[in-house]
Amino acid sequence: MPAPQDPLATLRRDHGNPDAWDPRTRGGAPHKPLVLLAVCDLAEEGKLDSPLIPFDGPVADQLADLFQVYFRALYLDRRGELLLPLWHLKSDRGSIWTLRVREGASPLESRPRSLASLVEHYRGADLSEELHARLMDKDRRDGAREVLLGTYFDPASHDALLQRSRWNVQSESYRNILVDEARSGAVRKRAGIVSASLAMPEPARSQGFRFAVLDAYGRECAACGFRVNTPLGRTIVQGAHIKPWSESKDDRISNGFCLCPTCHSCFDEGLWSVKDLAIRLSPVLELTENAPTYLAALKGRPLRQPTHSCFHPDPSNFEWHETYMFRSGPI
Ligand SMILES: [Zn+2]
Repeated sequence: MPAPQDPLATLRRDHGNPDAWDPRTRGGAPHKPLVLLAVCDLAEEGKLDSPLIPFDGPVADQLADLFQVYFRALYLDRRGELLLPLWHLKSDRGSIWTLRVREGASPLESRPRSLASLVEHYRGADLSEELHARLMDKDRRDGAREVLLGTYFDPASHDALLQRSRWNVQSESYRNILVDEARSGAVRKRAGIVSASLAMPEPARSQGFRFAVLDAYGRECAACGFRVNTPLGRTIVQGAHIKPWSESKDDRISNGFCLCPTCHSCFDEGLWSVKDLAIRLSPVLELTENAPTYLAALKGRPLRQPTHSCFHPDPSNFEWHETYMFRSGPI
């Protein structure tokens, strides 16, 4: 049992809406404990050298992703609102979470309406020294996870959340393998990636691929340029395979790119492809009267590629897509 004074066991949660939260979260909002579980994962992955949890940059993006996957482990049909715990954790006892105002900015009197506004005013949140030291030690970090699970979640949910913790850490190691492979230069070690991918549980593999591709492309759709973070902190872009995973078993970043859901579905259906790094539309799309106009505007546009050339897609994958997937005729 946690010590009574343990600040992780005394988080103030919203219990105001009995219809919103069920026994899985002991009737309270799960946002704060879930974001702290995500912070535990960051610590496990070596991302917490300092007590500052940044609100922008790669670590912040990863925190947002981890928070969402935890949320979905509990509620498949709902999305978590990251802004809420990032703001409200500052009110909990023990000063475990202190917002750090950006240089030249002023602190906010009340919760901002969007994550972007929070990020504009605050550089991040400082964990208390005690909590940071606790999370940097493996045994104490595992103990912190147990406190969060035992206090805020029904025992029936523990296995799903602990399994998600393991998958998160595995997916990060897989992401590092994919990034290292891309950075290693001209030698494409496909066999090594295939064996690593086969050793991964499917959720960890697909998450590692997704995170690697999203980071490489700066979370921007490579086709239409859409880069959306919702006001409450969710991204809608996806990691897409050029040669489908079912065909290729190839998770290398050179076989992936970042797409918004519409562009992703249309690409997988062969309604557009890429030739000479420019977008080629299928006649099916061009002849469809109610096709979104922005899709028609993509014709001939250059594909948006990552800043770092080591993450660029392999043109031979697009050639494969054009040959086997692209709907070149109207029927
Ligand atoms: Zn798009």
